[in-house]
Amino acid sequence: MIDTHGHLSDARYDLERDEVVRDMLECGVEAMVDSGTSLINSMETLANALVYDNVFCEIGVHPGSVDEYHPSQLDEFSVMARDEKVIGVGEIGLDYHYEGYDRDLQMRVMRELIEFSHAVSLPVTLHVREAYLDALTVLKDMRGYLTNGVRLHCYSGSREMLREFDRFDSYYSFGGVVTFSNFRHQDVVRAVPRDRLLLETDCPYLTPVPMRGKTNYPKYLPYIASEIAKILEMDVEEVDHLTTTNAHTLYKRLKI
Ligand SMILES: [Zn+2]
Repeated sequence: MIDTHGHLSDARYDLERDEVVRDMLECGVEAMVDSGTSLINSMETLANALVYDNVFCEIGVHPGSVDEYHPSQLDEFSVMARDEKVIGVGEIGLDYHYEGYDRDLQMRVMRELIEFSHAVSLPVTLHVREAYLDALTVLKDMRGYLTNGVRLHCYSGSREMLREFDRFDSYYSFGGVVTFSNFRHQDVVRAVPRDRLLLETDCPYLTPVPMRGKTNYPKYLPYIASEIAKILEMDVEEVDHLTTTNAHTLYKRLKI
């Protein structure tokens, strides 16, 4: 199975990164995607992807880091995108959860990076939190640039909203939240077209039960896969096979 979204570059793994990757492989997670949150962080994700065969990366600007972004950075992002270990543009998007966010700036950066993803022929990973309507507006405006696939990571919208995103043939990934006892959106997971479903840990965040409360690792992905299997009334092997196939369909550069 493949962890399609996490943050191996997070500083809390600095002293144990070799071990994190080794444990991941031992637990049957054959690859992970380290997702970038800013230009500097994207450089770190690429550095990790170049060290480990089974680690790939995405480069992008998280909506929480848009004030660190300047359009001139696109030159550096373009150079990075030539590397085959860069498999997508992400994470980019909109996050209206915290006070003081700049909605217009977030939307502008999201648009610019979608345009960039088109220029470098890579799919995009969207981080959307409490901003689904505006995210749809941006996708509608940018439809012509969404030619390489789009994925919503940690999807937390409604089933009705999911149908709107389906118009863009979106992929959806779910993480540890599905294992929480207060998770009530099993119907949303069931509503995802089977050929659009992906798995992720979003490590070091959102640690799945029974490890909740501790640091998250890619090696915990099987807990998420078994919960998804339960929700979909499938065998975990089927979920593994399905989501791995889907990851390869979305990510043409994911060669493992
Ligand atoms: Zn993330």
